[in-house]
Amino acid sequence: MRTVERIALRLRELAGSVLERIPGPPSSRPFLCPVCGHRVRSFHPLPRYYEHQLRACGCPYGFEDSETLNWRQYSCRRCGASDRDRLMALYLREMFPSGRSAAPLLLVDFAPAPPLSAALRRVAGLQYRTADLMMPGVDDRVDLAALPYEERSLDAFVCSHVLEHVPDDRAALRELFRVLKPGGWGILLVPIVLAAREIDEDAGPLSAAERWRRFGQDDHVRLYSKQGFLDRVRSAGFRVAELGAAHFGEETFYRSGVAPRSVLYVVTRR
Ligand SMILES: [Zn+2]
Repeated sequence: MRTVERIALRLRELAGSVLERIPGPPSSRPFLCPVCGHRVRSFHPLPRYYEHQLRACGCPYGFEDSETLNWRQYSCRRCGASDRDRLMALYLREMFPSGRSAAPLLLVDFAPAPPLSAALRRVAGLQYRTADLMMPGVDDRVDLAALPYEERSLDAFVCSHVLEHVPDDRAALRELFRVLKPGGWGILLVPIVLAAREIDEDAGPLSAAERWRRFGQDDHVRLYSKQGFLDRVRSAGFRVAELGAAHFGEETFYRSGVAPRSVLYVVTRR
């Protein structure tokens, strides 16, 4: 990101946080972040840098082609949670009503997003662990394609926006299935481009500009079509549920700053 864009973004964040501290009636804050629980006037839009990069590198897809992306209302002014973090929080609220786990569960959060991670740490009765290959401060240093956990040892996992970085995502999916207990569940999210007809992937040496053009970001190794993603997840053995506005409610989506056609993928092992 260029310096001028960083400064503009920081100024906008500062202005937003000042506005949020001014008391006002709830109607002036129509949105409610399900991650931090604060009412907000709006969410921050996704920095324009991403759009500029996609255009500059000749990517044929834009934000409007994404399945789950609210670029106009992207990040929470209070906790920084993205729209996908807020979508996941809606589901986790169903699984852990009143902030409690009915039974002691082991949940591993791969490449944890800090705002959601903080919320999960507050769930009573949940044995929560974080895991990543490179991120500092996580509980477990793991390669997703060769997980260090015992077979059928996890009750649940969160794996959001990780697989598009992993060279062998089929191996990673097989590993996630292996370590999940029968009856367990996982949240599995990747950036899906609805206009893409099939998966495009290349983990070999490519320029950053080529990765932006083909995969939408310079550290991605593939771009997922919806069907391609579903096929790979099912091939690993998972059952997949697609939870959207019909499940959570259109009003809940709007209030949480989640775009109407967003979909949460919840996988289970029978
Ligand atoms: Zn928040």
